[in-house]
Amino acid sequence: MKIKLSKYCDFCFGVKRAVRLIEEALDKRKEPLYSLGPFIHNPRVVEQFSKKGLKTASSLRDIKRGTLVIRSHGISPDVVKKVRASGIKLLDVTCPNVKKSQKVAGELARRDYKVIIVGDKAHPEVKSLVGAAGGRAFVVNRPQALKKLKLNAAKAGVIVQTTQSKSSYLKILTRLLEKNFSEIKIYNTICEDTLCRQEEASEIARNVEIMLVLGGKMSANSRRLAEICRAHGTPTYHIESGSQIKAGWLRGKTCVGIAGGASTPKWIVDEVINQIKQKNNTRKR
Ligand code: SF4
Repeated sequence: MKIKLSKYCDFCFGVKRAVRLIEEALDKRKEPLYSLGPFIHNPRVVEQFSKKGLKTASSLRDIKRGTLVIRSHGISPDVVKKVRASGIKLLDVTCPNVKKSQKVAGELARRDYKVIIVGDKAHPEVKSLVGAAGGRAFVVNRPQALKKLKLNAAKAGVIVQTTQSKSSYLKILTRLLEKNFSEIKIYNTICEDTLCRQEEASEIARNVEIMLVLGGKMSANSRRLAEICRAHGTPTYHIESGSQIKAGWLRGKTCVGIAGGASTPKWIVDEVINQIKQKNNTRKR
């Protein structure tokens, strides 16, 4: 069996940076280090870091002392204020790309633009963008949801979650342009890493018989990669580890593709390749 491996099978730049900063802080720590919720959407990496000493709190109330890590997804400015007021220190590992989007959201809101964020309302990055816009943003994740958008502003500014797909952003933008705003500012805040990952996964999915997408089940960007691959009609499996591969998936197949989400490390990719090799006599491209 031939394996077609995406060039983007490792942590993205923002997650690599976050992992390095957290490891440095863990090495030097004298007090507990916390993240609010899992620091990335990959349970296996989170478990590894919990063994190294990173604690995961489910609420700010659980943190009495020490340092809170602001995850690569970012955090709302009002939460930052609350944490500072409680005497907890902060280690900010927000991805620079997300910081840029937060800055745009804040500037648009200050200049009285209706801030429209294309993304998933429940995602921590989107929550941080809504916070940066002073809580006055409209979040939309599909064109039909634009029916609820009230035209109570003449001008609108649109940004998009860094890990959204370009095609779904374009669909929503097309519908938005039909609305009667006198001015619309459109920002492409999808990160370059996401675009490259999506394009490469799409290209591979077109040319293989089965596609494996590696990433945490809660990872929105991994789920999106899987959707992009499925859109080509290629049987696609979203898995967190090599042990989840079923022998039946590979039976009779001669070519398998592998793509990884932004929070999937290289060691999980290697593990999956080894699992495939164990199940088949493989030949890597
Ligand atoms: S996917 Fe892009 S925006 Fe998100 S952490 Fe990675 S590099 Fe940053």
